[in-house]
Amino acid sequence: MKLSELKTGETGVIVKVSGHGGFRKRIIEMGFIKGKTVEVLLNAPLRDPVKYKIMGYEVSLRHSEADQIEVLSEEEARRLEKAEVRTARNAALPADPGDGSDKELTPAELSDAADRKSRTISVALVGNPNCGKTSLFNFASGAHERVGNYSGVTVDAKVGHAAYDGYQFNLVDLPGTYSLSAYSPEELYVRKQLVDKTPDVVINVIDSSNLERNLYLTTQLIDMHVRMVCALNMFDETEQRGDNIDVRQLSELFGAPMVPTVFTSGRGVKELFRQVIAVYEGKEDESPCFRHIHINHGHEIENGIREMQEHLKKYPELRQRYSTRYLAIKLLEHDKDVEQLIAPLGDSAEIFRHRDNAAARVKEETGSDSETAIMDAKYGFIHGALEEADFSTGDKKDTYQTTHLIDKVLTNKYLGFPIFFLILLVMFTATFVIGQYPMDWIDAAVSRLGGFIATHMPDGPVKDMLVDGIISGVGAVIVFLPQILILYFFISYMEDSGYMSRAAFIMDRLMHKMGLHGKSFIPLIMGFGCNVPAVMATRTIESRRSRLVTMLILPLMSCSARLPIYVMITGSFFAMKYRSLAMLSLYIIGIVMAVVISRLFSVFVVKGEDTPFVMELPPYRFPTWKAIGRHTWEKGKQYLKKMGGIILVASIIVWALGYFPLPDDPHMDRQARQEQSYIGQLGKTVEPLFRPQGFNWKLDVGLLAGVGAKEIVASTMGVLYSDDDSFSDDNGYSDETGKYTKLHRLITQDVAKLHGISYREAEPVATLTAFCFLLFVLLYFPCIATIAAIKGETGSWRWALFAAGYTTVLAWVVSAAVFQVGMWVM
Ligand code: GDP
Ligand code: MG
Repeated sequence: MKLSELKTGETGVIVKVSGHGGFRKRIIEMGFIKGKTVEVLLNAPLRDPVKYKIMGYEVSLRHSEADQIEVLSEEEARRLEKAEVRTARNAALPADPGDGSDKELTPAELSDAADRKSRTISVALVGNPNCGKTSLFNFASGAHERVGNYSGVTVDAKVGHAAYDGYQFNLVDLPGTYSLSAYSPEELYVRKQLVDKTPDVVINVIDSSNLERNLYLTTQLIDMHVRMVCALNMFDETEQRGDNIDVRQLSELFGAPMVPTVFTSGRGVKELFRQVIAVYEGKEDESPCFRHIHINHGHEIENGIREMQEHLKKYPELRQRYSTRYLAIKLLEHDKDVEQLIAPLGDSAEIFRHRDNAAARVKEETGSDSETAIMDAKYGFIHGALEEADFSTGDKKDTYQTTHLIDKVLTNKYLGFPIFFLILLVMFTATFVIGQYPMDWIDAAVSRLGGFIATHMPDGPVKDMLVDGIISGVGAVIVFLPQILILYFFISYMEDSGYMSRAAFIMDRLMHKMGLHGKSFIPLIMGFGCNVPAVMATRTIESRRSRLVTMLILPLMSCSARLPIYVMITGSFFAMKYRSLAMLSLYIIGIVMAVVISRLFSVFVVKGEDTPFVMELPPYRFPTWKAIGRHTWEKGKQYLKKMGGIILVASIIVWALGYFPLPDDPHMDRQARQEQSYIGQLGKTVEPLFRPQGFNWKLDVGLLAGVGAKEIVASTMGVLYSDDDSFSDDNGYSDETGKYTKLHRLITQDVAKLHGISYREAEPVATLTAFCFLLFVLLYFPCIATIAAIKGETGSWRWALFAAGYTTVLAWVVSAAVFQVGMWVM
């Protein structure tokens, strides 16, 4: 518990003191040392200060200060001990009668318990994007968080646990940041975490193949005065390249232990944790690697800092949360967040005056503003430190040179696009061509299962539900799993190798014309597989506006769930040679719509500034098969989840609506039976709504059913348009003569009836109707799972419902327009 929670007269043993370095130092100097017993002399709730007795002295603290001190009360210690005795007993042998263990604890026992409790260290992982934080997090905690070779994969904090050498580590994986300025939400978030959550130790992960830039963040962490251990990660790459660096020297210069590591193999991780323990245990005096240094920002800046600190020190609440030096530096950087923090203070006018004076003096002396001066000073510091640590990059094998060479080709003004489209072509061809084989196998297996149950189960509603509902519904979806996995395999490979960032880079200009960002491109491509993981993939987009617009237009990317209905309808209504063209046109219409809509949305709907952000070009890497496999699977899993949940339920509901109410005459034919079922009634009710598109009630029902998931459109059509022999009996739609002609005939008959024309006249109209139907399927309401994902990612129903609404309106308008124009032309 916290020291502030102890009541008057109670005692506790100090477990740890958190907070930034300066604060801790002060508190520890007052005698609040780990393992010491503290007694509360007077603790009036809500009244400051609280009086304590420690090491025979009386001291008083504020509540807020006592909040930062963790103690173990006697009661807690007893509880802990009981729990331990219990587990020990269980481990030994049962049936040991309990002894009344409410005995008083001796001071030694209490301090022992406190010692054990203090062996829990909270560790935050901080570093640039792509430096390997999540890899360390996964390695140490055994988690399977997403790692990727492009920036911004981690957006919120993930918590994991690890144990080493008798200590417990609570690891927090924070978003990657290049600095701790208040430019991006990530940077503010990391800052807030460091101040509010006060981790005991920060592991600063440094990409040592890019030392200079990565150390910039390190200098800012030093300003914040956090306890820190640095991991010089990717050390394998620097070694390969033949870099030279005196790690020990660098550690001493920065006053923080630095450990060479390779998180993909786990090299150096043990040593890293050893250092974390050493820092946590306060071995500060034992090595020059453990010290708090001040980066010298030059005479004028330092003067300004000192002047401001004089005033800042008058505010204990502030001083306790922040290093005053850090605040002063941030003020000189004109950091809005810190300015807001300072503004309400009584001395704020004076503080700002000092700041402005210092900035003016800097300007006079160096000709640059204070932000630039601070940055220059930090880079100067880094450069100097690297020089002193004998840093040199070798030329044995320059990984960057390779990267640069490859980039010369892949991002070339003329070659970039063709290569990129070639890769896309290969990707989609592989997806649809290779994917066809396993798809056929699964398809055959599903229909065999359906057939098996159909012949071996007694007739009745349960059998009908299994065969017509669950198996045909879920079966229609599961057949697409291979295609999705192949597509996601390619995407994962491109992400992990680093090519995806280049693709984003190439597309950036184009995407900007749409009001988006290059990074929107990755989720959009993923959308062709399944919209749900694609919505989640938008997390990589730093700008909130781009991210939102991307999510909103994602449903226009024709996901594979729409494929079965495309295949079914184009197969029935278009001659062989026009089929691919008809299908391709749908994909293209979707993309064109997305371009138009995103342009409109980014101007009229989603307002707000776009925060500029760096387009990282990480060096190319050969991804490991294991990683690719995992990433592919993680994306595919979301698809399967959707299938097990929403599609299963929707299939049953659609089936039930079509099955009930049971007809009075049990020998009624299937058609008539459907017309009088709930689904038939529903379809008839909404029929007028779809008059402008020329859809009859069966098509309407298909659309209604597709709200659950678009695969259901196909399976519903299958059920509705089957004669007495069920459509799902032999399941494949590829039967050239039988099935397609049947569907063609049935729909054409319906169209003839609807318009009151002859079958012959109805044929072209039916083709037009069918195409408009596909247009509607392409554009309207994505599916419940996608809407739920948008809600989850935006955190508001408003945007989710907006996405649902606008797509449906768009579908209605476009398909109506095409139908009316088509009719007019005919
Ligand atoms: P984060 O953005 O900081 O969380 O970085 P990730 O953990 O996602 O890692 C980014 C990429 O670098 C992934 O492809 C990792 O497999 C790779 N990676 C991480 N650590 C190392 C390392 O020590 N050596 C090499 N060669 N690659 C690494
Ligand atoms: Mg990460």
